[in-house]
Amino acid sequence: MDQKNFTIALAGNPNSGKTTIFNNLTGTRQKVGNWPGVTVEKKEGHIHKYGYDLKIVDLPGTYSLTPFSIEEIVSRNFILEERPDVVIDIIDSSNLERSLYLATQLRELDCCKVIFALNMRDLAHARGIKINARKLSELLDVPVVFTVGNKNEGVDALLKKAIEVAESDSESPKKRKVKYSKDIADSILRLQNFIENQQIENLPYDSRWLAIKLIEDDELVKKRILQQTESKTHPVLDEAQVYRRRLTALFDDDPEIIMTDERYGFIAGIIKEVVTTSTKQRVDISRNIDLVLTNRFLGFPIFIFFIWAMFQLTFTLGAYPMDWIDSGVAWLSTSVDAMLPSSLFKDLLVNGIIAGVGSIIIFLPNILILFLCIALFEDTGYMARAAFLMDKIMHLIGLHGKSFIPMLMGFGCSVPAIMATRTLESEKDRILTILITPFMSCSARLPIYIVLAGTFFSAKAGTVIFSIYLTGIIFAVITGRIFRSTLLTGADAPFVMELPPYRVPMVKSLLIHMWDRSKMFLKKMGGVILIGSIVIWTLSSFPQNIRYSMDYDSEISRIKAEFETRIAASNGSESRVLEEKRDSAVSELLKAQKAEKTEKSFMGHIGKAITPVFSPIGIDWRGSVALLTGFVAKEIVVSTLGVLYAGEKEDEDALSKALLSSNMTPLAALAMMVFVLFYMPCIAAIAAIKRETNSIKWALVSIAHTTSVAWFMAFVIYQGGKIIGFN
Ligand code: GDP
Ligand code: MG
Repeated sequence: MDQKNFTIALAGNPNSGKTTIFNNLTGTRQKVGNWPGVTVEKKEGHIHKYGYDLKIVDLPGTYSLTPFSIEEIVSRNFILEERPDVVIDIIDSSNLERSLYLATQLRELDCCKVIFALNMRDLAHARGIKINARKLSELLDVPVVFTVGNKNEGVDALLKKAIEVAESDSESPKKRKVKYSKDIADSILRLQNFIENQQIENLPYDSRWLAIKLIEDDELVKKRILQQTESKTHPVLDEAQVYRRRLTALFDDDPEIIMTDERYGFIAGIIKEVVTTSTKQRVDISRNIDLVLTNRFLGFPIFIFFIWAMFQLTFTLGAYPMDWIDSGVAWLSTSVDAMLPSSLFKDLLVNGIIAGVGSIIIFLPNILILFLCIALFEDTGYMARAAFLMDKIMHLIGLHGKSFIPMLMGFGCSVPAIMATRTLESEKDRILTILITPFMSCSARLPIYIVLAGTFFSAKAGTVIFSIYLTGIIFAVITGRIFRSTLLTGADAPFVMELPPYRVPMVKSLLIHMWDRSKMFLKKMGGVILIGSIVIWTLSSFPQNIRYSMDYDSEISRIKAEFETRIAASNGSESRVLEEKRDSAVSELLKAQKAEKTEKSFMGHIGKAITPVFSPIGIDWRGSVALLTGFVAKEIVVSTLGVLYAGEKEDEDALSKALLSSNMTPLAALAMMVFVLFYMPCIAAIAAIKRETNSIKWALVSIAHTTSVAWFMAFVIYQGGKIIGFN
């Protein structure tokens, strides 16, 4: 039995609930967010239902189909070139007027069947907005289904309707489209006739739509037509120019502006017909919340407070589960140690793998809390307000608030943050944002701060970490400004920040966020970090037969024997004192031996070789090696420190203790944190930069710029701190 295949595309404004409905339909978990621009790539899912093979495509959110941004181009090209059997336009019912602009454009495109999902019916209802679906359906000649995406209401009916429409063999209707005023309508019609007489082959466009686009001077469409000829021009383009000139003279304005106005007029008319609003619900809760949260004076302090609270929470709340995991790892390490006979393999297992992976896995709770907070910002709608608040500051760099969204995401991970810059219209804005985003300290760097700040600034750790993050933001602004006035000159494009309504976040969606990200973290544990731990252990345990500066083993036996006789000759309390003395002498020697061994290992040689670079910023050879490994993944820095400093297994906080007893000072720790904050992003982020900017050049610029800022700042702090006597 062969099944029928249909492709169903979901189009709609950002934040209209496309991804939510996509997830309901396909059962997959794509990222859902409550602010514009989450979905920058189209996503596909396949389902078998009602005897059909259905391909569902989640297109990027757009307000229109004019090729102003990558999303709009992606969406439009998909619909034109791939010809889905049905396009479902997901409409935010509580915002019908804005949604209808895309809806009318979809209808005008006239290349495939369209149905409307009037989503967020609950919100519309709560605001006293009533939509006459039957009338809307009549006016635009499109089937309409009500849905509530986050409660999965009406989604099945929507799917059935889509299949029904795909099955019906009616051509897409040719009526009920925007009516333009007489002069424009005439020009469209005449150009359309001209086009039809020209017999242009291989164009996926409807002739009326083509005429409209040419009168609007649509660059992409013009390019497509020029591909038809060898010459630099095409009769259709020349003809279109004639109409454009005529209309421009007539209206004293660009035809595309007049046409946009007329479309809005058309939409306003539809709204009048189908929407009734009851007065008592008019007062919008979101607007009231915004009076406070985006207030000129209060907004910014509140924003800073939220961010501060986020880190405070991450640090204090995270400490409890962290302790549990820590004891678990310690228990595992002691058990394995007791179970296996001494061997190189045991050493690898205990001091390489368990110590390396264990020193990172304990940060899982911190990272989960951080991600939960970011998810909360996204899902409640606060993220967009943060961008709005940052707009003024972003203008200092010559960017607008929209760029702040990828930057905020950078607190989680630079890779998706760099990808999220695709929502920015201008190429230069995008590159600039990509270059400064790594200064938004990613979550992989957090463990390093937790260890260093926790060890050296225990009571003030939360505040220190917060200051580190703040420093990152400030430097993003400063260096952004410098780039803007040198490599990336240009003015910022005008735009309006979308402020989606506040929503109570869905627990499910928050949990999905957390799970997705913890999955990434755990995958890294089993991959890069496991391998990294093994490599680092190997480099620090070999060569095996080194020549020590003294014969530790016989010295230890000598001390033991010497104390043995003295203890035998002493009485009760005296002998206990002597035993203690013996033990501490032995452990001192073991430590010294261990230290010498690591120092003479391959790792030690590498570290010594690069120390000249790092010693001016207060970092010894062990820190230097650790920082070097951070290029692979920032998490590895901590496990390297663990292997290099805390060679011996102690009950808890081994690394902390080892750091305290090493000669690292609080000042050096601060310099190291600052270096970690700024220095080059990890391989994955570099690869993302290269991919998104399409050139190795910007990846190299990013490496050079971040690392030189890092070194310079750490130098200033370390040397400056020494001068003013901070230690
Ligand atoms: P997209 O940008 O179009 O992909 O929108 P999303 O699917 O990411 O949804 C944006 C937000 O709207 C999410 O927080 C959803 O939980 C929420 N949402 C989706 N559908 C509905 C709905 O019908 N009613 C309400 N109240 N919220 C919804
Ligand atoms: Mg989406």
